[in-house]
Amino acid sequence: MSKKLLLKDAHIEGIRYFETYRKQGGYEAAEKALKMTPDEILEEVKTSGLRGRGGAGFPTGMKWSFLAKPEGVPRHLVVNADESEPGTFKDRYLMEFIPHLLIEGMLISSFCLGSNVSYIYIRGEYSWIPDILEEAIEEAKAAGFLGKNILGTGFDLEIYVQRGGGAYICGEETALLESLEGKRGNPRLKPPFPAVKGLWERPTVVNNVESIAAVVPIINITGAEFAKIGVGRSTGTKLISACGNINKPGVYEIDMTITVEEFIYSDEYCGGIPNGKRLKACIPGGSSVPIVPANLLLRTVNGEPRYMNYESLADGGFATGTMMGSGGFIVLDEDQCIVEHTMTLARFYNHESCGQCTPCREGTGWMYKILKKIENGQGKMEDIDLLWDIQRKIEGNTICPLGDAAAWPVAAAIRHFRDEFEWHIKNPELCLTQNYGLANY
Ligand code: SF4
Repeated sequence: MSKKLLLKDAHIEGIRYFETYRKQGGYEAAEKALKMTPDEILEEVKTSGLRGRGGAGFPTGMKWSFLAKPEGVPRHLVVNADESEPGTFKDRYLMEFIPHLLIEGMLISSFCLGSNVSYIYIRGEYSWIPDILEEAIEEAKAAGFLGKNILGTGFDLEIYVQRGGGAYICGEETALLESLEGKRGNPRLKPPFPAVKGLWERPTVVNNVESIAAVVPIINITGAEFAKIGVGRSTGTKLISACGNINKPGVYEIDMTITVEEFIYSDEYCGGIPNGKRLKACIPGGSSVPIVPANLLLRTVNGEPRYMNYESLADGGFATGTMMGSGGFIVLDEDQCIVEHTMTLARFYNHESCGQCTPCREGTGWMYKILKKIENGQGKMEDIDLLWDIQRKIEGNTICPLGDAAAWPVAAAIRHFRDEFEWHIKNPELCLTQNYGLANY
């Protein structure tokens, strides 16, 4: 059984409220951290090896160490709770059921970074969660863990919750900052990076909800102990939101030493595929990461078992591997149509493109239209190469990663399931009523 750090108390009734959270040892990490120096906290986070849990996997301690500290200029911590990646809903679970874990993590992180005003930017569709967070903030304030002179240390912290308007692009950190400043959520050109010029041109750290929540166990058990959990550079535990064709969709905390096979088929996690169907493919890290067919999902090209961690999932690069991403694990059984699935994703990215860059604005629309044609039995063979060409021209040629996120699913689908695209084109009548099926692979 995986070790639990973040969800260990999630089953306790009333854990959402300060009193219950406190009885379970809540805010002890904050008390400990406030007796440390900011540099000592930073060292613990660096030692832990914690990697950003939002998708990029960049080391959190290193990100914090980039924060500029010009004299007299306020600094900010902004928590990215704009969780909009299709298939990803782990942060929602944390905020809804254990909001104090995030508030406590923000207190420790803000103290370390020197932020006296910190923000949670939450996606508009999570309409009921801001009230939960604001209630937790009020409770923490009443108990002396927020506000002025926290626990007599002289450190002040206010936390504000800002609701987004429902745009996926505001999960990109600079678009988020624009939106937080009250402007349209268009990504900024980088550099300058937020660590130097972020919110209102002040040094800013933007971190995912899970990353900040993980700071609490890091301080509780020490960074060195956190680093012993997991494997290699995949330290600590990771929340995975699992959905699609599985018996037990939900949010799971894993320690990144289990195999993908165990995660899908064990009763402790997804509980297998309904009705004895066979596994066809999986997108293991949210809709932006490459889809992989079952054979490459369960084993690497060397025949080694594939594990649920950053390195193993990416083994083989984009040709045969995929990515841990945001941990949104989407399972597809033998009945799923890859062309339809890819078209649905293309429509999503086309809809969510902010329109600043031509390759993304135009290319996502072209990809959607071509995929729709193929899906509707009106495709031509040359459309497959055209799709490939368009995604190549988007990748790496845009201001923000949404362009890459739109290109990768199309590239991976063609790379691994080209036969299925060709079958659609060769069987324009049949493809409207039947799926290609797993037997053809
Ligand atoms: Fe906007 Fe797309 Fe360019 Fe990102 S890549 S800035 S979403 S047009």
